[in-house]
Amino acid sequence: MNSNLLNSYNKYVIANYKKFPVCLVRGEGSRVWDDEGNAYLDLFPGWGCGLLGHCPPLVVEAVKNQVSKLIHVPNSWYTEPQGMLAEALATRTGWGGQCFFCNSGTEANEAAIKIARLNGGPGKYKIITMLNSFHGRTFAALSATGQPKYHQGLEPMLPGFSYVPFGDLEATRQAIDSETCAIMVEPIQGEGGINLPPVGYLEGLRKICDENKLMLIFDEVQTGTGRTGKWFAHQNWNVIPDCVSLAKALAGGVACGGLIAREEFAAKLKPGTHAATFGGNPIACVAAIATIETIEKENLLERAVVIGNRFKSKFESWKEKCSLIADIRISGAMIGLELSEDATHIVQKCLEQKLLINCTHNTVIRLLPALNITDAEIDEGCDILEKIILG
Ligand SMILES: *Cc1c(COP(=O)(O)O)cnc(C)c1O
Repeated sequence: MNSNLLNSYNKYVIANYKKFPVCLVRGEGSRVWDDEGNAYLDLFPGWGCGLLGHCPPLVVEAVKNQVSKLIHVPNSWYTEPQGMLAEALATRTGWGGQCFFCNSGTEANEAAIKIARLNGGPGKYKIITMLNSFHGRTFAALSATGQPKYHQGLEPMLPGFSYVPFGDLEATRQAIDSETCAIMVEPIQGEGGINLPPVGYLEGLRKICDENKLMLIFDEVQTGTGRTGKWFAHQNWNVIPDCVSLAKALAGGVACGGLIAREEFAAKLKPGTHAATFGGNPIACVAAIATIETIEKENLLERAVVIGNRFKSKFESWKEKCSLIADIRISGAMIGLELSEDATHIVQKCLEQKLLINCTHNTVIRLLPALNITDAEIDEGCDILEKIILG
């Protein structure tokens, strides 16, 4: 890549991200191009935000139209896009709900944590979350994140969080005390390695919450808005949460976070309790509405399941001939392939073959492909991956 740009970064941009020495300039669907004209096949567009791939046409058009009409006004005024997006989301949950909008996943979780404390009332502030979870980088969401490596050097964390193993209902029950107000969980752990909930787990958490008057928060920042073949992952299990946080794919790649809460919980956020200056801005909201429209027009919820099955059958055939494949964990277009050894070097090898993937927790190859990826593109990506993994 351009050495002047690299020098600018080195001098002027804080080095808090591990980066590949590639400068991306343009994208379309599951392809993205660098400044030297190289094309890459992207099986991890936008770190899960590119649910419709790069530059989805309806989103581009909606943003272009909106940006020349009204860019931003504060939340002290009504705007059409925010109201329309709230209705579009709440009418797709199956259980209604009311929305709050922000700009990222961590902020959505901050809002959920505030609702949980406000709802718990005086002295009830503790929240149970899961080991290996990921909820974001601001302090409450970071405290909720059950991974010590992300807390290191930043302690003390916000008090009140306790962590239990994902999938363990008994440990969850044990962790409840008279000060507990909520349980917070990703229906499928994303960053933690695409960990699917055991049979009966989410239903069990709902029951525990009902029995103990706790609020059930689903962090669907990664699983939400169509990724798993349902609008919301919890619809795969028919478990109704009290509050769902969203971000990543919500607005087709435009920054947008949000929260949907059942009305009695939503009512806890009164004027003065919470806000986000840019939250629910017209550009983000029209992008999100265009994302929902695209998913419906192109039947992409159904397509998500087909995509998952295509990857699954390929991975299963690899597993038969290769002992390196330890586990296959797939829900729609949320795809995890666990190896029995370190898989981090595979990301670099794929990059050399112009294939973009992700590896999480050292051993899990994570793919979050666009829902409009073609079968030919899936096959192309899998061929490269197969040659690299199976040798
Ligand atoms: C990415 C992620 C977050 C954090 O979202 P940001 O937009 O980076 O703040 C929170 N929860 C889950 C499950 C995520 O995958």
